[in-house]
Amino acid sequence: MGARSHSTLVRVRDFVVGGDVFVVMAGPCSVETEEQLLATAEHVRRAGARVLRGGAFKPRTSPYAFHGLGLEGLKLLAKAREETGLAVVTEVMSECDVPLVADYADILQIGSRSMENYSLLEAAARSGRPILLKRGMVATIADLLRSAQLILDNGNPDIILCERGIRTFETTMRNTFDAASITLLKQITHLPVIADPSHAAGQRDLVPGLARIGVAAGADGLIVEVHPDPNKAWSDGEQSLDFATFEAMMADLKPWIALGRKSPGSRCAANAPVLEAVG
Ligand code: PEP
Ligand code: MN
Repeated sequence: MGARSHSTLVRVRDFVVGGDVFVVMAGPCSVETEEQLLATAEHVRRAGARVLRGGAFKPRTSPYAFHGLGLEGLKLLAKAREETGLAVVTEVMSECDVPLVADYADILQIGSRSMENYSLLEAAARSGRPILLKRGMVATIADLLRSAQLILDNGNPDIILCERGIRTFETTMRNTFDAASITLLKQITHLPVIADPSHAAGQRDLVPGLARIGVAAGADGLIVEVHPDPNKAWSDGEQSLDFATFEAMMADLKPWIALGRKSPGSRCAANAPVLEAVG
C-alpha cells in the first residue's frame, strides 16, 4: 500500500477537513442549556477548536436516559455559531429529521448506532451537507467503507470518517480504541479520518492520551466532549473534559500535530470510489 496521491478535502464554512490543518471539533455530548452551550462554545473556540459539537437528538443506550432537546437544541447550536463563528456538527438519527437538522448543521453526524441505517444514510447524503460518519461499535472497516460508499453513490463526496472505539472482549474501557484503523483508512481511502477519544475511552483521564495516539496514527482531526461541569452533564459526563483540561490537552497536542501534518496532495475527484486513489 503506497501513500495516497489524492485526498478528499471536505469544505466546511471557511476551512477544510482533510487538508494540512488539523481540525478539532469539541463541545458537550448533549445540548442542555443556552448557558452551558455558549460557555462551552466560547471556550473551545479560544482553545483552538473550529467546530462545535453537541447532540440535539441523542441515541442513548438506555431508553430512560435524556434524549436531547430536539429543535430547541438545534436553535441553540445556531445561536452559538452566530456568536462564535464555529461550525456546527450534530447528529441526525432519523431519515425524517434530515431536512430539519440540515437546516441548522454545517456537518451531519451519523452516529455509531446508525452507521448501517441505509435509508438514513441516503437521506443524509442527499441533503448535500458534509457527513461525519462514525464507525459502528461492532462494524468492521469494510462495513464502514460500505456505508461511506453509499453516501458517495448518493451524490455526496463530503464524507469524514470517525473512529470512536469498537466493542471487544476488553471491558476495562468503554470501547477499544482502534488506532490502527485510522492509519489503515488513511492508506486505503482518500477520505479524511478523525478520532473520537471520548467515546473510545469512556473515562476522561484517558482522553488526552488517546487523542495523542489519534494524532500519531495520522488522524486529520479530533472530536472531543467538553462540558463546563462534567460531573453534572446530562449525558457522557464521565468522559467529558472540563475547560481547563481541554485547554491543556490542546496545548500539549500542538507539537505532535506539527510533527504529523504533511501536504495532502492534490484534491481527489469528487466521485472517486472510497477505495480508489491508492498509489
Ligand atoms: C456522540 O457523539 O455523542 C455519540 C452518541 O457518539 P457515538 O455514536 O459514537 O456513540
Ligand atoms: Mn456522547
